[in-house]
Amino acid sequence: AKQRGKGKYAIFDPIMHSQVVERLQMENDLRHALDNQEFILNYQPIVNLESSVIEGFEALIRWQHPKKGLISPFKFISITEEMGLIIPLGQWILKTGCQQLSTWQKQFNYPLKLSINLSVKQLNNSLITTLDEILSEYEILPNTLSLEITESMLIENLESTFYLLHQVKERNISISIDDFGTGYSCFSYLHRLPVDILKIDRSFVHNLEFNHHNQLITESIIVLSKSIGMSVIAEGVEAVEQKNWLKQHGCSWGQGYFFSPPLLPLQATMVLEKGSYQ
Ligand code: C2E
Ligand code: CA
Ligand code: CA
Ligand code: CA
Repeated sequence: AKQRGKGKYAIFDPIMHSQVVERLQMENDLRHALDNQEFILNYQPIVNLESSVIEGFEALIRWQHPKKGLISPFKFISITEEMGLIIPLGQWILKTGCQQLSTWQKQFNYPLKLSINLSVKQLNNSLITTLDEILSEYEILPNTLSLEITESMLIENLESTFYLLHQVKERNISISIDDFGTGYSCFSYLHRLPVDILKIDRSFVHNLEFNHHNQLITESIIVLSKSIGMSVIAEGVEAVEQKNWLKQHGCSWGQGYFFSPPLLPLQATMVLEKGSYQ
């Protein structure tokens, strides 16, 4: 029996076994989560660093598991991708976010922005169909909606993504590069893509006030984005020193715990009533 090798015994490894069980359980629960309305979008303010006005939000998903409580997107997004569930979930995220945006734009009567994260699996023609449905169903100004993609998603299939993103742009919807600087950092593709916003990854913003290396990178991204007519948002702003440094170096927007964590829809409405962090 010993001859059958490690692979045969691995399945009886109690730790591995419990991981397999947990994963299967998670998949099972995820299959019903959308129908059971267990997902919720939180909204994190994006703030104009000059005026402290809240000009937009980023939508961030959470899973309210009936027994396990709140589950982070890090724990379930990749599983929903492997299960193919990210397609209906992605549509739900886009529709729910845009419905909320439309409500806020009417209530506060100004062109508030909303940024929505996309999964690489959503980058196909069904995205365009979903966007067209949304634009006809909810009254939003298309250019107030931005779709966040990462550099690695671009590299994976540059030709088809290039085509798809131009279709998004034809609808006047804007495109942001998320976690900018952490991926391939290949500036050359930016000219070919209809990108409007660069989001400086929070790893550069962390310790920005002390770390010379991060200052150099952040400054180059700000200068670069301005030279090609893009807007720039700093993620993960946690301290007043970071906010001030960014403001002094010409970064237009900031997002992070210094201003606010991601908020429940009702809390987000309340901060919009105040309008700014001044
Ligand atoms: P991300 O797009 O880079 O989102 C920013 C993450 O940083 C969020 O984590 C946010 O809560 C966190 N954050 C915000 N401010 C600060 C700060 O000042 N300091 C620190 N340390 N962190 C901050 P979250 O909500 O757990 O989301 C994690 C990731 O899950 C996101 O990273 C994104 O990649 C993914 N994700 C979230 N919502 C969605 C979604 O609706 N669709 C898809 N496809 N992915 C999503
Ligand atoms: Ca993001
Ligand atoms: Ca990010
Ligand atoms: Ca990230």
